[in-house]
Amino acid sequence: MLVDSHCHLNYLDEPEARLKAARARGVQGFLCIGVDAEGIEAVLALADDHPDVWASVGQHPDAAAADPSWIETYLDHPRVVALGEMGLDFYRQPSAREKTLQQARFDYQLHLAERQDMPVIIHTRGAEHETLSLLRAHPGARGVLHCFTESWELASAALELGYYVSISGIVTFRNGENVRDVARRLPSDRLLVETDCPWLAPVPHRGKTNEPAFVVDTAAFVGELRGWSAEEVSRITGENFCRLFDRVRLPGSGDARSPSQARSQGRNSSS
Ligand SMILES: [Zn+2]
Repeated sequence: MLVDSHCHLNYLDEPEARLKAARARGVQGFLCIGVDAEGIEAVLALADDHPDVWASVGQHPDAAAADPSWIETYLDHPRVVALGEMGLDFYRQPSAREKTLQQARFDYQLHLAERQDMPVIIHTRGAEHETLSLLRAHPGARGVLHCFTESWELASAALELGYYVSISGIVTFRNGENVRDVARRLPSDRLLVETDCPWLAPVPHRGKTNEPAFVVDTAAFVGELRGWSAEEVSRITGENFCRLFDRVRLPGSGDARSPSQARSQGRNSSS
């Protein structure tokens, strides 16, 4: 099953048409990512409307000024399968005060993830040391480093902690050699693929708005790097997706919970 493990469908014009186009190319699942309180209702509405769309809830480091406690309101929503995206972005050289705030928000969300036993989606750029020390401080958390652009040293340290690594269209870029190196070296059972749309359209769609259908191109490229057929990439990355995001219930599996069943089985309501 080919899945776009990280997309921002709510930022696309005509998300319904974009989903249709992706399904027509064989994409069978979409994880729509929450980044702030302002956008979360739109993310959840898309997941509520489509059995093959799931949602995450979290606060991006770019939104670090806001209090993230709103996240707790959504933890038992039946379509929410992960926390994030969360993390650190020191690439644009924020002030020392902002760095401290980013670390506090990330720490809080990792704590929530441990408490809820939910996987996390991590954005990390230019903050390898600080990211690793927070992951090490939360040994009960698990998840994925998404749209990976950092060093193999960070990837391998995160792998040792049990994390997955997700490869975006950057792997197809001329200057993406470090991402290609990581994509070749990752263990097969820790690799995911994503678009991060609407940004970062892969070759041969450079310059266009990215969309979930283009995960097919990134998956094919990763397959070539690793010597896998298209079927193998879909099967392996799809299995990894379902193992990590273990609240995902596939449509038609007979295991799909209705929203009301899921609510009554929610962890918080039973404890
Ligand atoms: Zn994102």
